[in-house]
Amino acid sequence: NVGLQDYDPEIYDLVCKEQYRQYSGLELIASENFTSQAVMEANGTCLTNKYSEGLPGARYYGGNEYIDQVEELCRKRALEAFHLDAAEWGVNVQPYSGSTANFATLTALLQPQDRIMGLDLPSGGHLTHGYQTAKKKISSTSIYFQSMPYQVDPATGYIDYDRLEANAKLFRPKVLICGASAYPREWDYARLRKVADQHDAYLMMDMAHISGLVASRVAKDPFEFCDVVTTTTHKTLRGPRAGLIFFRRNSDLPRNHSLESRINQAVFPSCQGGPHNNTIAAVAVALKQVSTPEFVAYAQQVQANAARLAEALASYGYKLVTGGTDNHSVLWDLRPNKLTGSKIEKICELASITLNKNAVHGDVSAVSPGGVRLGTSALTSRSFQESDFDQVAGFLHRAVQIASQVQEQCGSRMIKDFIKALDGNEDVAALKRDV
Ligand code: PLP
Repeated sequence: NVGLQDYDPEIYDLVCKEQYRQYSGLELIASENFTSQAVMEANGTCLTNKYSEGLPGARYYGGNEYIDQVEELCRKRALEAFHLDAAEWGVNVQPYSGSTANFATLTALLQPQDRIMGLDLPSGGHLTHGYQTAKKKISSTSIYFQSMPYQVDPATGYIDYDRLEANAKLFRPKVLICGASAYPREWDYARLRKVADQHDAYLMMDMAHISGLVASRVAKDPFEFCDVVTTTTHKTLRGPRAGLIFFRRNSDLPRNHSLESRINQAVFPSCQGGPHNNTIAAVAVALKQVSTPEFVAYAQQVQANAARLAEALASYGYKLVTGGTDNHSVLWDLRPNKLTGSKIEKICELASITLNKNAVHGDVSAVSPGGVRLGTSALTSRSFQESDFDQVAGFLHRAVQIASQVQEQCGSRMIKDFIKALDGNEDVAALKRDV
């Protein structure tokens, strides 16, 4: 049994380099985090060797005595982490990712070509909430279902609930999806429930980005209003990469009858095969951590840090979508600075700051969006406090100043000319040193 370093030095070397990159730079991608050692260990166990199609106690393969216990424990901890009563809510912990969790959920709730409404991707929504462009159906959730996205109000950056309600009257969705990848504000679940009820629709929340905040009660509770709640496990929840689907057990509402069996069957056999048992064990470990007072303190700090980052950027005069944040993320509109998100992403990458370009509502080009998205979950895992984020904002301000100078010097708006002009830039090198 030869270890990785000896057997495959090429891969080992790349893993080491990636580890160095992750820990030597500033990780500001809102969807990323650093898992604990215990989560990593569980993820790298022999559980990856086992096939266990089916559910605990009803598998298509033998030898699942311990795997059943792992999955049961994961389900129990998932309900506990979100303060749910097992008599009212169930959970499927097998989805490989957030995308498959969402597609399986829609597969369970709908017939092909039924209608869905989710937040449009340029407004901050996720691909799997029915994304399509004027020319093309992009996500399988718009290929197999009819999608009519709702948007944010371009003037305020907040969701335009009045327009959503008016459009829902015309479109009559069967599933109304809330949740987002780049929306820094709280959700009005009561209003969304009202709209869903007007059409006897399911209300589905994809809380992927904020699930760690929901579990810690730092964000509002979607379970009070929704029929189904999905999440990834690797963002604010700080686990390995996977997905969860929570569903209401039998209630007196006909729409929720047999949700449990429909969701379970949609995950397997409709959308997936054998569960990734090593990942499920690692999710269970992460959920054990989520239920501790330390994690609540972490989630509170994530939110406080994001608020401080927003404040500090605003103090330099920058425009933030909605003017600030309620959660872990900040959406920064660079169009008033005549810069694109790609340029700031590039300079930051050269200076060991990782963030991502992001569409802001009203962008003409999706390839070259006018904003960047920032998140505080990863650096908060590395014990960053508010004062550290003042410094982070200072670094970002320097990146913008460099970008403006370089853009002016190179006399072109093209990203390839901009990258060429950055070659050997001493201000970038100085920024990297300071970071
Ligand atoms: N849902 C939301 C809101 C997301 O932001 C993401 C990914 O960033 C996903 C789902 C998809 O998750 P995954 O990448 O695990 O498929």
